[in-house]
Amino acid sequence: MKELKELARPNVWALQPYSSARDEYSGVEASVFLDANENPFHAPYNRYPDPLQKELKELIASLKGVRRKQIFLGNGSDEAIDLVFRTFCKPGVDNVVAIDPTYGMYQVCADVNDVEYRKVLLDANYHFTADKVMLSVDENTKAIFLCSPNNPTGNNLGRQEIEKLLETFEGLVVVDEAYIDFSDARSFLLDLDKYPNLIVLQTFSKAWGCAAIRLGMAFASEAIIDLFNKIKYPYNVNELTQRQAIELLKSPEKVKEWVEILLKERERVMSEFVKLNCCRRVFPSDANFFLTKVKDAKLAYAYLVSQGIIVRNRTNIALCGDCLRITIGTPEENDKLLEALKSYIE
Ligand code: PMP
Repeated sequence: MKELKELARPNVWALQPYSSARDEYSGVEASVFLDANENPFHAPYNRYPDPLQKELKELIASLKGVRRKQIFLGNGSDEAIDLVFRTFCKPGVDNVVAIDPTYGMYQVCADVNDVEYRKVLLDANYHFTADKVMLSVDENTKAIFLCSPNNPTGNNLGRQEIEKLLETFEGLVVVDEAYIDFSDARSFLLDLDKYPNLIVLQTFSKAWGCAAIRLGMAFASEAIIDLFNKIKYPYNVNELTQRQAIELLKSPEKVKEWVEILLKERERVMSEFVKLNCCRRVFPSDANFFLTKVKDAKLAYAYLVSQGIIVRNRTNIALCGDCLRITIGTPEENDKLLEALKSYIE
């Protein structure tokens, strides 16, 4: 890996970050807070939240087997994706490389930050090789984005190929594991100390059932996390979100239960899908959704909308012609979908 100083934008490396009122004292149990121009009434909403979310991070650290200082928390993992660009990519100069098709926000963040986005097409089975990705890399490539299990294809990427990139690429490798809780694949979280160029993304929005509270996680070396903390907005994770996540972390067995139900349902819905008239193919899935090729995705999508059922039409995405992406819902919701499609005549 190149030196972090060489990868980071010089203005970020040299930045004097904003220092919030609560950052400026430590070591005492204070009880009178007249430092932040808050309203003393209306607890607990009146106080600014912990800018570094220490209590929440301690819980996440012990659950995930990482150190607290290897964790960044943001307003969804989308915030962490954006921070990769803002921390490392010089607008108009640097580029990133990503597999195609994949999660759309990598390209949106690249475009917003005026960073060239280079796509490397997956093969027909939605897999990639490190060698093909490396062909798109040049001296201005700061990061490679991989998503495993991948969205919208649903499959795990090959572990060996990811490891090969971590070993050969001199910049950062972002492995987005938003759907890892639904997969048998081993997370890259425990490899953080082995690969200083690794950034792993996870989220509370999927298996944890908390998309509404907007809480995403990035795990990386302490040096990378320090850079993210330097440029993030001071209070990027609000108090209500922190409290809700702390509550949920006290009962992780609930999440396990949800995942078990969803995995069983995934198997059931996928095996029913192949029997449907409109279905041409069901792609293997390691996530809480699956991709299916139908006779005419536009028509099938419109029909489902007319039945009050919304799925994702991915027909305009590379390698996804006539494909719908179906999220696994409750057993009742899945039944509604299957019933509707059984009586669908193209
Ligand atoms: N990564 C992937 C692969 C996703 O599919 C999504 C959301 N659909 C995200 C990240 C963003 O998740 P969050 O809600 O944490 O911003």
